[in-house]
Amino acid sequence: MREFKIAEPASADAATALLVETAETAAIIAGGTDLLDELKSGVSAAGLIVDLRTVPGLAGIVPERGGLRIGAMTRIVDLAGDAAVGRDYPGLRQAALSLATPQLRNAGTVGGNLCQRPRCWYYRDPQVLCRKKGGFNCFAYQGRNKYHCVFGGSGCYIVHPSDLAPMLIGLGATATLASPKGDKVIPLEAFYAGPEVDVTRENVLAKGQFLKSVGLPAPKPGLRTAYVKLEERGTWDFALVSAAVAGIVTGGVLTEISIVCGGVAPVPWRMKKAEDALRGKSASEAAVRAAADAALADASPLKENGYKTDLVFAALREAVAAITA
Ligand SMILES: Cc1cc2nc3c(=O)[nH]c(=O)nc-3n(C[C@H](O)[C@H](O)[C@H](O)COP(=O)(O)OP(=O)(O)OC[C@H]3O[C@@H](n4cnc5c(N)ncnc54)[C@H](O)[C@@H]3O)c2cc1C
Repeated sequence: MREFKIAEPASADAATALLVETAETAAIIAGGTDLLDELKSGVSAAGLIVDLRTVPGLAGIVPERGGLRIGAMTRIVDLAGDAAVGRDYPGLRQAALSLATPQLRNAGTVGGNLCQRPRCWYYRDPQVLCRKKGGFNCFAYQGRNKYHCVFGGSGCYIVHPSDLAPMLIGLGATATLASPKGDKVIPLEAFYAGPEVDVTRENVLAKGQFLKSVGLPAPKPGLRTAYVKLEERGTWDFALVSAAVAGIVTGGVLTEISIVCGGVAPVPWRMKKAEDALRGKSASEAAVRAAADAALADASPLKENGYKTDLVFAALREAVAAITA
């Protein structure tokens, strides 16, 4: 393992100042459950680790304008156990409980989960110089791609691994970024960027910025949410495909619906065509099939991952059934 230094900033401003000075060589650490693996394997060569645990005010969940503000350093176990999350956004609790293991949920944070790096086996192999690490090839494209994306691949075919991101985006969450010029608020959906923007990164964090918190809007009356995650092993596993669905059913009709899938694209993937197909309809199996087909018309499966298109329909059917039951 390479040597690195640790900085323990005492404020968000001190952290952003450090990150501006050392952007090329620095990495942020939150719970460390992902970053330490990258440092140990040599995938990350950071020389300075900026520890957010010493920055006050980044952990915790507080009510805000009828919704919630979730600090980036909030542990996933605390998100899953929060009474307001369970009451108002049960799909978010499902997503939190679906991820990793109790030990990882105890150590891992919301910010770390949203900013974790992809699990692509070529990216994680320190011997392989793929495009994400500055090389010229995506080895998954013509290689082993069972776990790779079916939407949005553009010279890099990773999938975004976070279980929290699709549900938070589906709920209309915002991301507050600490930055040298003060806090900046953007939709969480806009926080993520595909390989066509910058293949070496998965989000739009600029030099000196870090994710400070996530804001959830107040739940509309009648809002129902569900998170369905389809895995290979059924436990301690990343999603092959997941569906985060939030909606309102009035008189048997889906008057509002948002659908964001995980495991299918380099970013959490909004299924806009499926939303449009289901809005204003009752959620029969035929309507969900037609909605999935509308969205899947844009899919480009690779040699080994065509099965994911069946899983998109299966996850969607289960999630829509859960909010309309
Ligand atoms: C065996 C295993 C199974 C897993 N299964 C799942 C799963 O099923 N679903 C799932 O969603 N996740 C899964 N994970 C990932 C796990 O949830 C993440 O490791 C964890 O959420 C990361 O949180 P952390 O606080 O430890 O982040 P860290 O390891 O500290 O950081 C992760 C990354 O995010 C960056 N970062 C951290 N915080 C911030 C911030 N506030 N602003 C900007 N950048 C930041 C770091 O620089 C680093 O690149 C699994 C991990 C393992 C090891």
